[in-house]
Amino acid sequence: MKKKLYIQTYGCQMNQYDSERIGQVMSRAGYVQTNRIDAADLILLNTCSVRDKAEQKVYSMLGSWKQFKDYSEGVIMGVGGCVAQQEGEKLLKRVPHLDLVFGTHNIHKLPQMVEQVRTSRARPVEISFYRAPSYMEDPDGRTQVHGVKAFVTIMQGCNKVCSFCIVPHVRGREVSRSSANIIAEIESLVARGVIEVMLLGQNVNSYGKLTAGEPSFAELLGRVDSIEGLKRIRFTTSHPQDLSPELTEAFATLDNLCEHLHLPVQSGADAVLSRMRRGYTRREYLARIERLRDRCPQVALSTDIIVGFPGETEAEFESTLELLQQVEYDEIFSFMYSPRPQTVSAKIYDDDILEDIKKDRLTRVQTLQREISLKKNRQRIGEMEEILVDGPSKLKNGQVRGRTRNNRIVNIMGPESLVDQLVPVRITGATANSLLGEVLWDKCNFNSQLEGDTA
Ligand code: SAM
Repeated sequence: MKKKLYIQTYGCQMNQYDSERIGQVMSRAGYVQTNRIDAADLILLNTCSVRDKAEQKVYSMLGSWKQFKDYSEGVIMGVGGCVAQQEGEKLLKRVPHLDLVFGTHNIHKLPQMVEQVRTSRARPVEISFYRAPSYMEDPDGRTQVHGVKAFVTIMQGCNKVCSFCIVPHVRGREVSRSSANIIAEIESLVARGVIEVMLLGQNVNSYGKLTAGEPSFAELLGRVDSIEGLKRIRFTTSHPQDLSPELTEAFATLDNLCEHLHLPVQSGADAVLSRMRRGYTRREYLARIERLRDRCPQVALSTDIIVGFPGETEAEFESTLELLQQVEYDEIFSFMYSPRPQTVSAKIYDDDILEDIKKDRLTRVQTLQREISLKKNRQRIGEMEEILVDGPSKLKNGQVRGRTRNNRIVNIMGPESLVDQLVPVRITGATANSLLGEVLWDKCNFNSQLEGDTA
């Protein structure tokens, strides 16, 4: 009988992709995935350490998992991802029931590490970084495909020096995969029914810059766009400093590139941006957005905001609120600053903004953004959109939900057989978080029999 693997994933899409790879690597070692932790022979936690809260969650989760080791002999428990990379051996000391620790570059070593634990009760730790991109490749290629959407890593690591950010310390320096391998992977995904890819990297905009003979990110997008059968291309994350004119142009010219850009600004105040070492001013950031909106007026924008960065005055914080009003993002992700180990800001600044002030600023940012999102969503009412349906709605039985090209969630009444289909809809309602729509059955180009399934 095959052994069972349970994986719990925290954090970003990169971590979700890594968990898929873990599943794939371990399937070759004879494991099948299970949703039941109590039935698993191998239990893995894939972690995130971008913010302190995420890291603390790891320790409480590992504590609560001790019972599974106690009840069932031979269960192996491991930790991967950014906390594993950051803590290494320390994790083993702090969590005595843990068997192995594998860093962000070491997924390919997992089968060997599990075997070591099984045969010799060793407690291996693998947290080396590699400069050659081969650590991101699977010798057998991508063997697992789930549905019609897929993540594809194009690069890892980051060479930026943002003072708050732990990513370069836990993901390493920038390494780009070969464009030939990326294209081959996407072609093989498309051949197996994938119609939407999300290209992943910590700073995708600087893809290829350090690798002789590789295209720029904008050129890579052009090559991906010409893959027959692929309908939608998304990517994340972009650093504003590297949003090149060519990339802006790609939004205007590439048919399959979805009109949505996530461009983390972090703060609206120049002094804070400078302390964050972001490498751009508010004016430069706004100029890039203006150029993008000029070339692609329908583009939706989202961003990340940090409140309570060391020394952030009320006036500086208000500059961020003003920026939100000025840009009118479609969506934001907002966080209270937390000092991270090894980062410059943790070394040179006191975390001097009181927790209550951080919380208050977070609430104010989120309240303002809710108003903006609601206003922008209401403007969509009456419009026609195409959504890619990805599953049941979280709101109501009988509804399914999907995303528009510019990344808005739309809930529609419809059968589950619409899942994985591109569906034309008319927008009929809006909240701050999502839209409501109705299917335009006469415009559907798939089996109209599905219509009969609707109640
Ligand atoms: N590459 C992205 C960028 O351009 O900054 C960083 C992605 S990071 C994984 C996601 C977000 O977490 C960041 O954009 C930032 O808003 C937030 N973040 C990172 N470090 C943080 C910290 N020390 N405290 C609070 N939020 C943080």
